[in-house]
Amino acid sequence: APAPAILELADLHVSYGAISALRGIDMVVREGEVVALLGANGAGKTTTLRTVSGLHRPTAGEVRFCGERIDGVSSHAVVGLGIGHSPEGRRVFADMTVLENLHMGAYRFKRLRQEDLERVFTLFPRLAERRTQQAGTLSGGEQQMLAMGRALMGRPELLLLDEPSMGLAPLIVAQIFEIIKEINAQGTTVLLVEQNAAQALKIADRGYVLETGRITMHAPARELLDDPRIRTAYLGET
Ligand code: ATP
Repeated sequence: APAPAILELADLHVSYGAISALRGIDMVVREGEVVALLGANGAGKTTTLRTVSGLHRPTAGEVRFCGERIDGVSSHAVVGLGIGHSPEGRRVFADMTVLENLHMGAYRFKRLRQEDLERVFTLFPRLAERRTQQAGTLSGGEQQMLAMGRALMGRPELLLLDEPSMGLAPLIVAQIFEIIKEINAQGTTVLLVEQNAAQALKIADRGYVLETGRITMHAPARELLDDPRIRTAYLGET
């Protein structure tokens, strides 16, 4: 039997004023999976993650986490339910140190838990080395690690990752994807938004393709990697 759904989106619509960003999407993420959400610029990927996180209110449809509706729940409360979000553009607190940023990620527990900090430092040894450094002075890859580490400090059941590879050198991208695999192997379910479809599908169990606010394909990652439409549109083949 398939694992239970941790996240379900049902006929989800989200608009920015007159602009309709999501036009009725259905998606399921099951416990233990890595699910990739692919699509071109402006397809609605970031909007999807931000809606799950309670940063946008849907105009119609439902978001369910562990079977309970969470559309309408505040972004603050969503973190408390066990959803972590590493946002597009990383958004670390530039004037704070690495350690202070990680503290911010632990606010649902009122205090930082040593075991969570050790988990993050084991996954990202660079962050341990740079714990007293100002986040704004870190490299792009280190800032990405910090954004992910900060999200993990809330001990999420579900981790939302928005374009973790954006703007990073290939070697760093490979490291980041290895770490995502490791985070998942440790028991965290992952919903991964990526422009880098090839890399994302290599670590994903399943994938969804979003085009101008609609899901146009969903399949096991293996099938998407082999699909000629995906190969042309998202894997840069001609
Ligand atoms: P990208 O990879 O460029 O972030 P995306 O797939 O994540 O793209 P979204 O950022 O979710 O796409 O945007 C979906 C649509 O909503 C686009 O047409 C975008 O222009 C529009 N949009 C996004 N944010 C806003 C906003 N704050 N106000 C108005 N329109 C917006």
